[in-house]
Amino acid sequence: MKKIAILGSTGSIGTQTLEVVRENKDIEVPGLAAGSNIELLEEQIREFRPRLAAVWSEEKAKELRTRVSDTDTKVLSGMDGLIAVSVMEETEILVTAIVGMIGIRPTIEAIKAGKDIALANKETLVTAGHLIMPLAKEKNVSILPVDSEHSAILQSLQGNDRKQVHKILLTASGGPFRGKKQEELLNIRVEDALKHPNWAMGQKITIDSSTMVNKGLEVIEAKWLFDVDVDQIQVVVQPQSIIHSMVEYMDGAVMAQLGTPDMKLPIQYALYYPERRYLPGERLDFWKLSKIEFEKPDMETFYGLKLAYQAGRAGGSLPTVFNAANELAVSKFLNREVKYLEIIEIIEDCMSVHQNILSPTLEEILETEAATYERIESRR
Ligand code: NDP
Repeated sequence: MKKIAILGSTGSIGTQTLEVVRENKDIEVPGLAAGSNIELLEEQIREFRPRLAAVWSEEKAKELRTRVSDTDTKVLSGMDGLIAVSVMEETEILVTAIVGMIGIRPTIEAIKAGKDIALANKETLVTAGHLIMPLAKEKNVSILPVDSEHSAILQSLQGNDRKQVHKILLTASGGPFRGKKQEELLNIRVEDALKHPNWAMGQKITIDSSTMVNKGLEVIEAKWLFDVDVDQIQVVVQPQSIIHSMVEYMDGAVMAQLGTPDMKLPIQYALYYPERRYLPGERLDFWKLSKIEFEKPDMETFYGLKLAYQAGRAGGSLPTVFNAANELAVSKFLNREVKYLEIIEIIEDCMSVHQNILSPTLEEILETEAATYERIESRR
């Protein structure tokens, strides 16, 4: 039996990971953690019988303890709870499906405890990749991407020498506003931005996809995962989301992974890597698929992507500013406190005043996050 723990089990990636667990009969889930959705977490506890569960607030944890008092599951709370679930003795893999930089500490602790990481939580790698990747190497731990693009890159690297990679072609759907210009985005409402053409995902990543900040985060994520320069990563818009990404080698050969948009494939691939397993679901039908289109991304309208390249090239604490400013700006947009175009204006403003720290410690990353939040809060 394979034993895994999941941070963010009630979210989009978390629930799809549990679907993969249901479909394969050889995975146990001794640890689950969520933010506040204790109704769903209770159902998951009753179905998967974990030894540990964690929720963020102690108040919710108290309520959950009462609700599951007839089970053997121990319920914890806060950062200690998240870390306890991440380092459980019996697990081999931690699925990081939590959203945001809050995933950094649990991920670092899991690596220190020798757990392989199935990484969905890209914000962690974007901000702390320089700490996480060397630590993973030292502890002989694998960081396996769950993001469909990075999984596609990993799949396209199989059987080839990584030293012969010339460039990575990171595909993007272009989101719901592809083809629009700045002036057409002035009055975008939350409901408009939450309509992704191809993928059903959590709210934050759906907004990030619409601004193309998600693609920017993925560029920086790819830099760390595959040890390439950001300028070796080229974003290619492929609106149908059929090609999940590609790798171009020194001789000009391009390897790609294609498939229907279904996150269960990359999740399952990360859990069983390098083995492939049967996965039920729709298959690509090349007789029906009439065309696959490609475009250059519009980095003037979606200049969040340009800012991501700038942050990725500079490295240090600048990617933390890019990411933290985006996290708070998106949450303010979702709460209807700022307008759609302000998201990128806020990121640009925070990046423009930041004094870059070249190799920040974890404390400095968290201080940079706090300083970025403070600047945004004092804006008006
Ligand atoms: P969701 O918003 O759907 O889920 C987030 C999960 O994190 C929920 O289980 C939520 O709990 C939990 N959570 C939030 N805050 C806390 C906290 N303080 N403590 C413990 N748990 C917390 O997000 P997604 O599943 O869409 O995304 C998760 C990560 O995966 C993100 O980093 C995203 O970028 C990445 N990703 C997602 C993809 C997708 O298809 N969805 C694709 C590729 C990457 P609760 O429900 O209780 O609030």
